[in-house]
Amino acid sequence: MNAQRLAELSWPEVAQAVAAGITTVILPLGATEQHGPHLPLGTDTWRAVALAERLAERLPVLVAPAIPIGCSDEHGGFAGLLSLEAETLAAVIVDCARRMVAWGVQRLMVLSAHGGNGRALALAEMRLRQELPALAVWIPDAMTICGEAVRAIAAEADIPFNVVGLHAGEWETSELLCLHPEQVCMDQAAPGHTGEMDAALATLVAKGTRALTSTGVVGDPRPANANRGERYLAAQAACYEAALPQWLIQTNTA
Ligand SMILES: [Zn+2]
Repeated sequence: MNAQRLAELSWPEVAQAVAAGITTVILPLGATEQHGPHLPLGTDTWRAVALAERLAERLPVLVAPAIPIGCSDEHGGFAGLLSLEAETLAAVIVDCARRMVAWGVQRLMVLSAHGGNGRALALAEMRLRQELPALAVWIPDAMTICGEAVRAIAAEADIPFNVVGLHAGEWETSELLCLHPEQVCMDQAAPGHTGEMDAALATLVAKGTRALTSTGVVGDPRPANANRGERYLAAQAACYEAALPQWLIQTNTA
C-alpha cells in the first residue's frame, strides 16, 4: 500500500478507499517557528509529514494534509512565529475529525512533530472521546515512543544528547538535511545552548527559548548529516508502528 495523500486524491478515490476498508487517517501536526539561523520555520511540519508518509508506506491509511501551525509561543521573540492558542488547535483537530467521521473514517492517529502541541493534543483527545466516541483515536507522545531509539542512533555515533539537542540541534538538522537539504544553511549552523537537556527543557517550557539562547538552538547542529537523518526518521516510524494499537489498522471487511 503506497502512501495515500488525501489532498492528492479525488472524492471517488477516497470513497473507494473507504469502501475497501481503509478507514484510518493520520493527521500530521507541525509548527511554524524558529529553528535557529540554519533551519527553516517549517522544520517540524516537514518532519511530521515525513513520519506520516513513512508510516503510510507500511499501513493501509490515508494521510491528511499537515496542519502547519501549532502552539509555539515558547519561541516568542524570534521573527517568523505563527502560533495558535491550545484551545484553537484542539478545536481545529476536533472539527477536522468530525468531518472525517461523516465520510467513514473510524480511526484517527494525530502525529505531532512539535512538543509544544502537547496541551492542545490532550485537550483534543479529551474532546474527541466525549464528542466522537465512535472514532478510535491515538495521539502518541513522541518522546515517550521514539526518545530511546533516537538516543541509541546518536550514541552509536558518539553524539551526546546535549548535541542531539531539543531544538534545531543535531537531530532535527540531520532530518532536514535528509528531507530538504536545499532549505538548510550549514554555514549558519553553530552550537546553541548545550547545557544539561532536562534542565534546558524545564527552562524552555517555563520561560521560553529566548531565556536559554539568543540563536534559538538548543543542541549543536554541526555534526548533522543526511544519512543519520534518514536513520532517525526510519527508527521513529518503526517505533510508532510497533506501538500502534491493534485497532488502528483493522481493515473493514464489510
Ligand atoms: Zn522542531
